Amino acid sequence: MKIPFNKPYLTGKEVDYIQEAVVSGKISGDGIFTQKCHGFFEERYRFKKTLLTTSCTDALEMTAILCDIKPGDEVIAPSYTFVSTVNAFVLRGAKIVFVDSGKSCPNIDASQIEELVTPKTKAIIPVHYAGIACEMDEILDIARRHNLFVIEDAAQAIDSFYKGEPLGSLGHFGTFSFHETKNIISGEGGMLAINDEDYISRAEIIREKGTNRTAFFRGEVDKYGWVDIGSSFLPSEIISAFLFAQAESLDYIQEKRKRLWALYYELLSPLEKAGYFDLPKIPPYATNNAHMLYIVCNNSNDREGLIKYLMKNDILAVFHYQSLHQSTYYSNLHDGRKLLNSDRYTECLVRLPLYYELNEDNIIFITSVINDFYNNSDVKW
Ligand SMILES: *Cc1c(COP(=O)(O)O)cnc(C)c1O
Repeated sequence: MKIPFNKPYLTGKEVDYIQEAVVSGKISGDGIFTQKCHGFFEERYRFKKTLLTTSCTDALEMTAILCDIKPGDEVIAPSYTFVSTVNAFVLRGAKIVFVDSGKSCPNIDASQIEELVTPKTKAIIPVHYAGIACEMDEILDIARRHNLFVIEDAAQAIDSFYKGEPLGSLGHFGTFSFHETKNIISGEGGMLAINDEDYISRAEIIREKGTNRTAFFRGEVDKYGWVDIGSSFLPSEIISAFLFAQAESLDYIQEKRKRLWALYYELLSPLEKAGYFDLPKIPPYATNNAHMLYIVCNNSNDREGLIKYLMKNDILAVFHYQSLHQSTYYSNLHDGRKLLNSDRYTECLVRLPLYYELNEDNIIFITSVINDFYNNSDVKW
């Protein structure tokens, strides 16, 4: 039996809702299902305003426009993240000032941010890796004192919290992903959460190709036209219908994922105690949304051997980001500071299969294979 790394879960309602959207005759954006999704997320997480987008990448690109990022502006972000976190700002001419990850957590090391702020700095982009909150009080305090935007890349962080506050609701903006690898999905898909109401109407315009069509449909203007820059960032009703089925099932999806995550943690803890690797640490201010179960191996040889040994047993485990300051595109543009924790996660972090349809026997099997790898001297690697 093969255990994939991820398997998109369908609740069963997706096709019904898509059919409903198709039969209604309205399948372009901002129809009934988009409104239902907006209402769902605004009510549940107290976001001032949400706008569905076609991806988290698009939501990030919208924030770069909303922050008026111009060539020469500086944006502070972790190096250990997905390309889109910073590419959105590079598209507008920003220089990225990369910050190292923490020693015990891949999130941005908040204690290193302030010394990197210059008069050109415009924004800080904390990424809540694995859905575990960054140190938001510290980050928001720096931003307030230096008058910077905070954009939370909450792509992995749906239904996770910082001191009781939903992730994505703390900065000026929060961006979410519903890519098929996330906790709730729509194939491709995303959402922008806007927490400062001053930016709502411009966000609507940017999302609608730079036009005030959204205000027109609400009857606020009598014709619509080109009023700003923008692009086509809104998803069709087919995607929103799919997503609404997932949103309605969020509670039971989360409950199952958390149960699987806890079982992994329990079965892997003895190996961590024996010093073979590190498990994720959930700080007291953060919650776990069970987006990901990662382990940090002691070195890259261990990781390579472990991934191969799991593969031999038909289990697909995968590494994650390559430090962006070392990337082909950005290494020549980076200022040369060493970011050693980011490089360590690049070389040593491995993600284990975690998806709704995984069962407890699968996890008992996966963890026994890992145990074998470390404790059975017959395993040659
Ligand atoms: C998945 C992910 C993205 C990109 O999301 P898309 O919806 O695929 O554009 C951005 N940032 C992080 C941290 C992610 O995990």
